[in-house]
Amino acid sequence: MSLAFYPNSPVSETDKWMTFNATTPPDASRQKETDTSMKNFPSLPPPSTDVIPTPDTLLIKTRDNITKVAAGGPKFERKLPKGWFWYRKWDFEDVASISWFAGIHVLAACAPFVFDSGAIRVAVVLGFLTGFGITLGYHRLLCHRSFKVPKWLEYFVAYCGAHAFQRDPMFYVNTHKSHHKYTDTERDPVCPGHGFWYSNMGWFCNNDHVAKLCGESRGGQYSKVPELKAQLFYRLLHDTYFWQPAALGALLYLYGGFPYLAWALGMRAVVVHHLASLASYASHLWGDRPWNSPDAATNHWLVALLTLGEGWHNNHHAFQRSARHGLEWWQFDPTWELIKFLQLVGLATNVRLPTEAEKARVPLH
Ligand SMILES: [Zn+2]
Ligand SMILES: [Zn+2]
Repeated sequence: MSLAFYPNSPVSETDKWMTFNATTPPDASRQKETDTSMKNFPSLPPPSTDVIPTPDTLLIKTRDNITKVAAGGPKFERKLPKGWFWYRKWDFEDVASISWFAGIHVLAACAPFVFDSGAIRVAVVLGFLTGFGITLGYHRLLCHRSFKVPKWLEYFVAYCGAHAFQRDPMFYVNTHKSHHKYTDTERDPVCPGHGFWYSNMGWFCNNDHVAKLCGESRGGQYSKVPELKAQLFYRLLHDTYFWQPAALGALLYLYGGFPYLAWALGMRAVVVHHLASLASYASHLWGDRPWNSPDAATNHWLVALLTLGEGWHNNHHAFQRSARHGLEWWQFDPTWELIKFLQLVGLATNVRLPTEAEKARVPLH
């Protein structure tokens, strides 16, 4: 077992990026260190600052390395140990998350047996609302502040996002900021290197583990989002997060009965959740890397099509503040189209795009 994420890459600048610690001892010692930390899991100590990759060590300098990274993706050899998911302390949010995941999957399984065209129409509308809630609201607005909107609209899109089962804005933004800071390293809380199950669902159900990867001593600190913690709306949404889908479910049931519950809550939430997870999983494994971003992020047209433009992920990692992810005319980016519309009607301002100078610093192949 090795700490190298891309074991076939040459030992060079990339090797520094692939290991956590520039002062890491030779391979044999590393092996021991790795095994020990695995054994101690889940009481993993908060990571120290000397293992945080810096932009310099992250930079992939040669075309050869870019190609290897794009082809290989973040292959951790340090998998999460057996039993990591079930055999550990569960807090209320962990239990509530997995209960909701189970609930929406049961409802979705019932949906085909209670076919109702009205329920499907409502599911499609809610699917787009909650999908854009994540892509436009949680990601491009709250995480990256790539444009501004009036407060009422910010709260509305954030509220829509809260029905996509990606947790509340404080959790999501805090975690996503760590994803950008530690991309494709073992400190990355959503990296596909942790495995499909973790990437799809595990990180929503393990507060303490995610917190430790984010450099916090326990779940619920959200140290990277003081701007959200300062707002009553986000605190309330955090405190009532698990009740919001219950309220929506009650409304849907009162309006149209069980078919509306099965389609517009269950099936809709399952589809949106798995597409959102696909974006974070596949976008560091498969596709092209037109930009030399300091990680393994990729562009994939099909992922982009399925995830409202989030699949232009290499573009996004190269220009994180850009509101537009599909940078070429042929890179269809529905979320950017919606931002352009909001700008046209005067609701979106300060819309950020990469400058020519920024593009010159992240050279093309
Ligand atoms: Zn991002
Ligand atoms: Zn990413």
